[in-house]
Amino acid sequence: MIKNILDNELLQKEDIIKLLCAEGDEKKLLFEKANEIKIREVGRKVYFRGLIEFSNICSKNCYYCGIRKDNKNVKRFNLNDKDILDAAKFSFENNYGSVVLQAGETESSAFTKRIENLLKEIKKLSRGTLGITLSLGEQSRETYQRWFDAGAHRYLLRIESSNEELYKKIHPNNNKHNFQRRLACLDDLKSIGYQNGTGVMIGLPFQTTEILAEDLIFMKERDIDMVGMGPYIEHKGTPLWEYRNELLPIKERFDLALKMIATLRIYMKDINIAAATALQAIDPLGREKAVKIGANVIMPNITPGLYRNDYSLYENKPCVDEEPEECKHCLDVKIKLADAEIGYGEWGDSKHYFNRMSPGTKNRNL
Ligand code: SAH
Ligand code: SF4
Repeated sequence: MIKNILDNELLQKEDIIKLLCAEGDEKKLLFEKANEIKIREVGRKVYFRGLIEFSNICSKNCYYCGIRKDNKNVKRFNLNDKDILDAAKFSFENNYGSVVLQAGETESSAFTKRIENLLKEIKKLSRGTLGITLSLGEQSRETYQRWFDAGAHRYLLRIESSNEELYKKIHPNNNKHNFQRRLACLDDLKSIGYQNGTGVMIGLPFQTTEILAEDLIFMKERDIDMVGMGPYIEHKGTPLWEYRNELLPIKERFDLALKMIATLRIYMKDINIAAATALQAIDPLGREKAVKIGANVIMPNITPGLYRNDYSLYENKPCVDEEPEECKHCLDVKIKLADAEIGYGEWGDSKHYFNRMSPGTKNRNL
């Protein structure tokens, strides 16, 4: 019975699998419990991170991703510093509290330096008040350290799948796509002092419910502070397109993603959970639905509209033809519908981070 599982303090793998398979009334119970725990542990507020997808140039070839290096049908772009800083200024002026800098993966000393400089400039233009998350893939420890010293305090590096065998099926098998390196990067980020974010794609070919349960256990064992996970959406410019007929129907994938979020909220009560943009690609109210069942972070896209179409990780990316200003209005309304409020101007850091760094100082508000 789901009810007994939900009353348990510690979930076992079999329990997690049952929660991920919940349907009908049992699913409703799962969602209600997740919302209750969210409100009790991290509150009703949703925190914004203005997402700046500043370049789709990527040196990697992940089999699922539309902007992989070998996809020749992508018009590559790289925003100039002014455009990036203007977007950050938009976040600051609209009280979003934080920005995320995300891009395809580049490892070079010029890139490290550029980001370091941008971080300092963003801190300057916001008089130190904007929180900054980076999502720039695998880098050397030294690079991570320099970016941390320049002002980044959260880093999102999805493990994509914690199952090494599955990881190998969705990436080329070479040095550039190495599961152990990804784990080592997560270790580096944590020991440097970042709030440590990871996540997985849900509904990948070859993925089982058991693997998804193990993904959640992986996040707990690694004591992750924040999670961004969403449905896998096939893209025709990628090798995994070939398996499109073997996938769960898109609505079921969406539903499974919601169940993953709700179960994770129950399993890791005080972490930050982002409502992934991929949810919105399937359902216009996807992110708000996630907020109602456990998520507490949203990343509104503030990349200048001109470039959004070209940052096409998957098909049907939402809001690609809107300007940031329009996105803002629609979000205000939709968050209210999700029984939540927006934590304007706040960093909304992961409570879990502070609880693990200094147990006893619960709910410290930094
Ligand atoms: N290059 C960086 C950040 C950009 S990609 C990195 O890889 O970490 C950001 C995320 O987009 C990836 O972690 C992946 O989980 C997600 N993504 C890529 N292709 C996707 C697809 N087809 N469906 C859903 N999510 C996808
Ligand atoms: Fe590049 Fe990230 Fe896409 Fe992989 S997932 S191809 S690293 S942008």
